[in-house]
Amino acid sequence: MITLALSKGRIFDETMPLLAAAGITVLEDPEKSRKLILPTNQPDVRVVMVRASDVPTYVQHGGADMGVCGKDTLIEHSAEWGGSARSGLYQPLDLRIAQCRVSVAVRAGFDYAQAVKKGSRLKVATKYTAIAREFFASKGVHVDLIKLYGSMELAPLTGMADAIVDLVSTGNTLKANHLVEVERIMDISSHLVVNQAALKLKMAPLRRIIDSFASAIPAQV
Ligand code: AMP
Repeated sequence: MITLALSKGRIFDETMPLLAAAGITVLEDPEKSRKLILPTNQPDVRVVMVRASDVPTYVQHGGADMGVCGKDTLIEHSAEWGGSARSGLYQPLDLRIAQCRVSVAVRAGFDYAQAVKKGSRLKVATKYTAIAREFFASKGVHVDLIKLYGSMELAPLTGMADAIVDLVSTGNTLKANHLVEVERIMDISSHLVVNQAALKLKMAPLRRIIDSFASAIPAQV
């Protein structure tokens, strides 16, 4: 049995064409079904639905043989484990799906450039503490990080933070909350991750899926 961990939404939707290239069709819609284990047209392949930030954990601990998750999630997971080598995850492919960026945003009217220039201590709310810590350290900016799990846009609006570090795609969420993007930290896309022990034990079927995915990766734009 091959188990693939996916999360609902963009990652699930954009992984479907890659699975199709491997001859795999998921037989139930996760938006309509309450099932967490979804069967496919291949009796020896199944999909498990987990939270995006849990995908590396499922693959690392063998709850799934492989998974798809954003580079942001992989960086945060690997920071928790003291580096990607120790998390035992093999990352063979950048799938170039679910593309977005990690950016710094502030309340419209907040003079970010001046605050950075003055060397004041910035209060930064984010779910992406490893990415934010590394970014501000590399710029020599002192920050107090406030860990949040969602709705980061609220933090500057309530005065809890000066800035946020969050994923941005169209920029509509920032705009709707009167926030402006002031720095782009990195571009993000989703990657395929594979459990290293599973790769040895189930080499042939996993390689077949990896190779099919590789052949179906969307062209670079
Ligand atoms: P947007 O309004 O298109 O800029 O999207 C921003 C919102 O969607 C933020 O709340 C992000 O956390 C979330 N988001 C954008 N792109 C992604 C992605 N590739 N994966 C997960 N969440 C995303």
